[in-house]
Amino acid sequence: MDAAMNILKELTEHEIVAYTLLSLVITARSPHYRLIKPILLPSLVGGIVYRSVYMTDSKSLLTIVLEIAAAITTDLTYSAKLVAFIHNAIGLVVLCTLFNWVNSVSIFDITHISVKGISNWGYGYVKNFSIVQKELEKEKNKMREDFDQSLKARSRALGDVNTELPQKGWKKTAILNLMKNACAEEDKIWENGKVSGGVYFGQRKHIDMLNDAFSKYSISNPLHADIWPSVMKFESEVVAMTADLVSGGVDSVCGCVTSGGTESIILAMKAHRDYYRELHGITEPEMVTCISAHAAVNKGCDMLGIKLIQVPMDPHTFRIDMTAFRAAIGPNTILAYASAPTFPQGAIDPVRDIGELAVQYGFGVHVDCCLGGFVLPFARKAGYDIPDFEFSVPGVTSMSLDTHKYGFALKGTSVVLYRHHKLRHAQYFCYPNWSGGMYTTPTIAGSRSGGLIAQTWASMMAMGREGYEKHVADIFSTTRVIAKGVTDIEGIELSCEPDAMIVCFQPVTDAATGKQSLNIYNVADKMAKRGWSLNPLQNPACVHLCCTVAHVGKEHVFLNDLQDCVADVLLNPPKSGGNAAIYGATSSMPAGPVEEMMKVYNDVVLGV
Ligand SMILES: *Cc1c(COP(=O)(O)O)cnc(C)c1O
Repeated sequence: MDAAMNILKELTEHEIVAYTLLSLVITARSPHYRLIKPILLPSLVGGIVYRSVYMTDSKSLLTIVLEIAAAITTDLTYSAKLVAFIHNAIGLVVLCTLFNWVNSVSIFDITHISVKGISNWGYGYVKNFSIVQKELEKEKNKMREDFDQSLKARSRALGDVNTELPQKGWKKTAILNLMKNACAEEDKIWENGKVSGGVYFGQRKHIDMLNDAFSKYSISNPLHADIWPSVMKFESEVVAMTADLVSGGVDSVCGCVTSGGTESIILAMKAHRDYYRELHGITEPEMVTCISAHAAVNKGCDMLGIKLIQVPMDPHTFRIDMTAFRAAIGPNTILAYASAPTFPQGAIDPVRDIGELAVQYGFGVHVDCCLGGFVLPFARKAGYDIPDFEFSVPGVTSMSLDTHKYGFALKGTSVVLYRHHKLRHAQYFCYPNWSGGMYTTPTIAGSRSGGLIAQTWASMMAMGREGYEKHVADIFSTTRVIAKGVTDIEGIELSCEPDAMIVCFQPVTDAATGKQSLNIYNVADKMAKRGWSLNPLQNPACVHLCCTVAHVGKEHVFLNDLQDCVADVLLNPPKSGGNAAIYGATSSMPAGPVEEMMKVYNDVVLGV
């Protein structure tokens, strides 16, 4: 202590000011800054007051600043000192940057830098040349034709294309017959239980009940709570029952019903953005996610102006890489994102480790339970070893759970939950001055469908704990039978042991040559020919089956088909390689200027 005091005494006042400034610049880049910030100004003021009261010979701050300014222009020896000081400061910044860079290179897997990535980067530069644009246009037209042929053939076969209102309204029978005939064909595709995810509970009796519930409230709008108090009851109870599954004894958990997982996630991001702007004055918010996080996060960052920092996954467990995660935390971090489980490989991120850091540094954690919300609590009950992922983990501030997936309700609802009311308040939108009246809505939409809320309530009430427990137990044992079966198929391997209800498999890589046994997308294409709608994934290339009630009892049909398809691809590898996966579509797509291709895809889907 004495030694430190002596060093301090030897410093001139100028040096103290300079070093304080320098340390401020450096700490402002550290995640601890937000913790120091509230005490910075009071201690600075306190220090100055202390000096002026008790050390009567000390100079005032203004004098010091003026002296520094004067010294820069007049005092040569002093300005030499200052120059040396600035050189030191620059040196330190360069050193820190270098250190950060080495750190990030050693953490981020440089094998992620791909030829495709580099060519996309180059493409960004050249695409504006007119000659390139002409070629691109040609290429896009070709793509449009290809998509058009593969996507639109069946929809056009349904009859005349309507591009304007019919002069005279159609008869009810004509409308319903068209739909009946179309559905009869389309239902066959999912009713045989060969779709990964998609339809989570395909039993007719349940669907008919949901339709009944929907039709009773098809006209209602929860915005008018005075007209439909029963819809208000359903919404609040859907939230309460969902919260009960994951609250982990935290009484203050609250939430609301949204239109789907994507909206739940975007709303949770908005709530954290506004909450931390208020609490810590963070105006350039950052969010840390794993590259396995659902793309809804990228969409949300794009819409909300939040900077996204993506860290890699562990190459063996496919869970978030905690070393990289720790390094990515900064003073502007408002939210970390964990998935339970992830969409691609079905891995459960280490929520407890993430929560610990969040508590230490004071940011939020969103747990994406869109897939797992109505599964993991019941799987634990059935005796499976499920790590803690809910509000029982300190640091978890929000969660999303999709009622329209494993909640077995119709598409169009999800639940977002918060640890406390202040976060939910930050989600609401209020505009008191609108000429249409004081306007406030809890979610992104204005008017909403009370019918969707009613059928969600109906689904949960009809299932009950016992219903979910039974179906989840079946789904989990099916997943494990299929995973075990995949390990016995030559040429492919499990990407990782399933943490939940997703079986993800990839080609075997030769340890000596690094060569892969096959192109896994060819296997997905072959499976599609046998009626299987699997999910092709990328980075790394793999394919998954998201097990649902529809697959229970179909384990061996799947494994036999998969074995045949893999053997077939190994024996006659198709020439065309270089495919890319697209979310939600059955099969793979040709590589190319990817974003252009994706836009053309949407154009074709939306065109008549
Ligand atoms: C489905 C899903 C979402 C997004 O949900 P939508 O309902 O499609 O908007 C988000 N995260 C995970 C893990 C999902 O599986």
